[in-house]
Amino acid sequence: MMRVLLVEDDPLLGDGLAVGLRQAEFAVDWLKDGHSAELALKSETFDVVVLDLGLPRLSGMELLHRLRARGTAVPVLILTARDAVADKIAGLDAGADDYLVKPVDLDELAARLRALTRRASGRAAPQLVHGSLVVDPAGHRVTLDGRAVELATREFAVLQALLENAGRVMTRSQLEATIYGWKDEPDSNAVEVHIHHLRRKLGSDLIKTLRGVGYLIEKPS
Ligand code: CA
Repeated sequence: MMRVLLVEDDPLLGDGLAVGLRQAEFAVDWLKDGHSAELALKSETFDVVVLDLGLPRLSGMELLHRLRARGTAVPVLILTARDAVADKIAGLDAGADDYLVKPVDLDELAARLRALTRRASGRAAPQLVHGSLVVDPAGHRVTLDGRAVELATREFAVLQALLENAGRVMTRSQLEATIYGWKDEPDSNAVEVHIHHLRRKLGSDLIKTLRGVGYLIEKPS
């Protein structure tokens, strides 16, 4: 299931979009200000963001600038007011991938979000390199010392998340959020099992356990 972050402060419009997108089989998190959205985007993984530009606490435009300055590549569709041509251009220049003018047609929004996430998943993701470990997210390949290593889908997702956040501790629930859909109920020890398998395949030194906190791959030196 595709995970959408909807950022819209208008309660009626936001509610309509959240309900409509859920009916279209999207998993929707709805936040009503730019600051909360920024925090969510730092700690969680979304497939796509629907972003109103006029938001309290932190404007949609400023949030977009900060996201792209940090190198976050999540696709963003901005919502603009009719006649706000300047907003549209500024938004696209700031790194938005698409826009829709309010009032929004839900079928069109759902179709555009599907297209955006399709494009994003086909986008060549850069390789993640850590010592002699090379992970290719686009080709779903892992090599260690030049040898191919076979990983299960969720093992791969855990490893990718830890490498993309190298130097930062990831909690079990953050890792669960990256590997399970909204409605899946992960086994309580699923993450530990994936980590165990990764250590068996890649050596026990790579992934550190911080007891009671989470897991960490150090930044490559
Ligand atoms: Ca607004």
